[in-house]
Amino acid sequence: MSTRIGILGYGNLGRGVELAVKEAPDMELVAVFTRRDPSSLKIQTAGVPVVSVNDVADWTDKIDVMILCGGSATDLPTQTPEYAKLFNVVDSFDTHARIPEHFANVDASAKEAGKIAVISCGWDPGMFSLARVYSNAILPDGNDYTFWGKGVSQGHSDAIRRIKGVKNAKQYTIPVDAALEAVRSGQNPELTTRQKHTRECFVVLEEGADAAAVEKEIKEMPNYFADYDTTVHFISEEELLTNHSGMAHGGFVFRSGKTGVNKEHNHIIEYSLKLDSNPEFTTSVLVAVARAAKRMQDEGMKGCKTILDIPPAYLSDKSGEELRAHLL
Ligand code: NDP
Repeated sequence: MSTRIGILGYGNLGRGVELAVKEAPDMELVAVFTRRDPSSLKIQTAGVPVVSVNDVADWTDKIDVMILCGGSATDLPTQTPEYAKLFNVVDSFDTHARIPEHFANVDASAKEAGKIAVISCGWDPGMFSLARVYSNAILPDGNDYTFWGKGVSQGHSDAIRRIKGVKNAKQYTIPVDAALEAVRSGQNPELTTRQKHTRECFVVLEEGADAAAVEKEIKEMPNYFADYDTTVHFISEEELLTNHSGMAHGGFVFRSGKTGVNKEHNHIIEYSLKLDSNPEFTTSVLVAVARAAKRMQDEGMKGCKTILDIPPAYLSDKSGEELRAHLL
């Protein structure tokens, strides 16, 4: 029997889950839930109902895994503990510093209800976390490096949009080539924040705004820009829409570690992602994790988990026999 999937929240990730479920031979999309008026949403799959979140409790015996597609800033901290009381859930919560707190809240709900909740799945946290853990376990004497980009940072773009005089903005995070090469060549460099990434901003100004003042405010913004070399370009609204509406992203995780009697051998593990669509890749991970969540629940597990707790074979729709024959 197919794993029955629900989508809660229909933004970029919601649309991506819908596409990824279509590619999964062992899954079917049962319903999409939204906080907005359901009749205002047009989804891509014919025959799948769009339902108000207010009626979600009517669906507990019709859905095996609910994929939560709300935002990390304000939606998921409340939605994941709330819906883990009713369903097995998967989310993409990506505020790294708050993962322990989110885990504890979700764990309490899921354990009480006897459900499985897998949090913080996607690429970072998600596939990058797996790459870091595998490589740390294998090379205990070494250094970790994570680089992001080139890609749009939603948080940094929002921060620029909040500046007086700014109409719209996009911010790209870009890894510094020299730093990547130093890591790749086994130099084990100590890198400062400024040496690892640069930030490039494309800004549309309000009529009559002071460009020099906006540029200064961006470049001096603490936490967001002050510790980076930042370039600011002022462009028209049309140019922003035409050239900067893509959702590409990616990055690199490295572990550079030593073995040998005199630590004379250096090993470099590099995991990289080049994503044309950040949400479509993220949701491809969420759907594979939903498959694993169902299997974990079938085995009697409950409570909050992360991608680190999932045996790799549980992510695949292929049998153990097929995996051993073709992918091992
Ligand atoms: P969106 O802003 O597109 O959607 C978030 C929620 O906002 C939706 O669930 C939807 O809820 C609501 N919404 C969407 N569109 C509209 C609209 N037009 N009007 C009103 N409400 C709307 O966010 P994304 O889907 O792009 O991203 C969600 C989260 O995913 C991000 O916050 C990010 O933290 C996380 N993420 C994690 C990654 C990882 O690697 N772990 C990678 C990428 C993203 P509703 O339908 O109920 O209104």
